Amino acid sequence: MTSPSKPKPAAAKDSAPSAKSAAVTALGWLHTARFLTTAPQLHFLPELDVPEIAFVGRSNAGKSTCINTLTQQKQLAFASKRPGRTQHINLFALGKQGATDAVLTDLPGYGYAAVPKQDKIRWQQVMANYLVSRSNLQGIVLMCDPRHGMTELDEILLDVIRPRVEEGLKFLVILTKADKLTRSEGAKALSIAKLQAGGGQVRLFSATKRTGLEDVATLLWDWAHPAGAGGASLPLPSTGAIPVAPEGLEGPEASAPQ
Ligand code: GDP
Repeated sequence: MTSPSKPKPAAAKDSAPSAKSAAVTALGWLHTARFLTTAPQLHFLPELDVPEIAFVGRSNAGKSTCINTLTQQKQLAFASKRPGRTQHINLFALGKQGATDAVLTDLPGYGYAAVPKQDKIRWQQVMANYLVSRSNLQGIVLMCDPRHGMTELDEILLDVIRPRVEEGLKFLVILTKADKLTRSEGAKALSIAKLQAGGGQVRLFSATKRTGLEDVATLLWDWAHPAGAGGASLPLPSTGAIPVAPEGLEGPEASAPQ
């Protein structure tokens, strides 16, 4: 009856799941991403009780490409660049269908010059309100093209989120397009960004070479599935107050520069 059993593969050196299998789990989870909803302002967003992870960054920093690479989907984040959605907050659900366990939020890129001033001011308010007030926000991912470094607009954004990061909100700076840097340029960009990230983490990332992909995916999985939490542990904002938007965030893209 019993067939001769095949030799077992060498047992793992320890019982902890390897980094590789953690990355496989994380990437499988990210691949479930699907469009959930889009909203022009915070108060149009549904209230959710699952962890939310927001992606922010200057226009052209590589945010859409990074989201598409992480989710292994060609068009997902480019949906955020469709006419009518460029100034919107776009949400993507994660988890098996019917069992959403986290949400990714794509906030429009800022710093795009050809946007009417009124739209820029409106967007400053939407973005600041979202980042300060969204109660289920678990983490923020700031995309930054290291060839330009952190710009003044990124610094303003850092000021907006700093109080929440100090309260425990997760924060990651992704240095995009790492394939365009030499090894020493990459190392230098990392150390500078670490100084600027104030308690946040920093990773080099390349969509073309897949640098950092597994590491970032695993980090996001860990954020959304904190150890010991039956569901999610959600850092609450310190106040319900909606601040006046800071000067300087220049607003969303008017169109979809590719
Ligand atoms: P977004 O405006 O921040 O969403 O930026 P996009 O994702 O549209 O990317 C802006 C430009 O950077 C596009 O031309 C992309 O092809 C390019 N890009 C994005 N990620 C990478 C990368 O990892 N490596 C390289 N070489 N180019 C990239």
